[in-house]
Amino acid sequence: MAARRGHGHAVAGVNLPVYLNGQLVAREEACLPITDRGLLFGDSVYEVIPVFRGAAFRLRQHLDRLQRSLDAIRLANPLSREAWLKAIASLYEPTAGADLAIYVQVTRGAYPTRAHRMPQATSPNVIAFASPIPARDPDSANPGLRAITLNDIRWHRCDIKSTNLLPNVLAQAEAQQRQAEDVIFVRDGRALEGSASNLFIVLDELLLTPPKCDEILPGITRELVLDLARDAGIAHAEAGIDEAELARAEEIWLTSSTREIVPVVQLNGEPVGQGKPGPHWQRMDQLYQAAKERNRLAAFSGNRHEN
Ligand code: PMP
Repeated sequence: MAARRGHGHAVAGVNLPVYLNGQLVAREEACLPITDRGLLFGDSVYEVIPVFRGAAFRLRQHLDRLQRSLDAIRLANPLSREAWLKAIASLYEPTAGADLAIYVQVTRGAYPTRAHRMPQATSPNVIAFASPIPARDPDSANPGLRAITLNDIRWHRCDIKSTNLLPNVLAQAEAQQRQAEDVIFVRDGRALEGSASNLFIVLDELLLTPPKCDEILPGITRELVLDLARDAGIAHAEAGIDEAELARAEEIWLTSSTREIVPVVQLNGEPVGQGKPGPHWQRMDQLYQAAKERNRLAAFSGNRHEN
């Protein structure tokens, strides 16, 4: 697949095209009809797959979760696994070595009439594009971020990675207004997850994260952090976290594929622990960086896509 025209976002001198239903096109030329159900109803699901120094990370897990989201919204996967791998590779392989986020979205498609009822014969639309992930500066310490808790006004299927993100957008606006960088959603007194991340806390030396359920996204990074904790013999549990526990946590982290493991150093204006990234975060971040490096070495020794 060759991009038809070369302008738009560029990484290391390489223009980043858009994948649109099997074609690579320049960003400016990538269009969908205004009747697309993703636009009209949010009738679509998505994934974000990180690529670190030219190697896709946890790609199989992301494609499995995409399948799960598609099943949950009763939409047949328009692409085979092989076609997904090819489409995604076409977006990052030419950039050789960059850190990228590959966004993919499947909508139920565009139909002549606007009607909530699902069409009998579907023609989904598939879009995907790469964006640079800001490089980590290895020489400067992670400053952490400030978070606020907010009442979770989202729906009851937060386990589906759907593009209905208005509550998340509004939560971010509220955080910004209150001089914070992120939000932790709370429902019925239980802290659940961030506005685009999963939640971990360290409480009495125990690493805790809420269990998987329909109130949180089953994060790929969350799963990896749990695996790394198990392998390293770090005491951990999947258990509900109430607001009081969140408030007295020694450490709070937010995890996501593109932001990795981010320490929260201030919650609702109060310092978390010592008010700086804690020792447990430091250790887990090192384990995580080592996992990324193992993945990269495996990818370039021929095991690409299946790690
Ligand atoms: N929860 C929500 C609501 C998210 O949007 C994200 C980011 N996709 C996550 C958790 C973290 O998921 P992952 O580690 O798979 O990026």
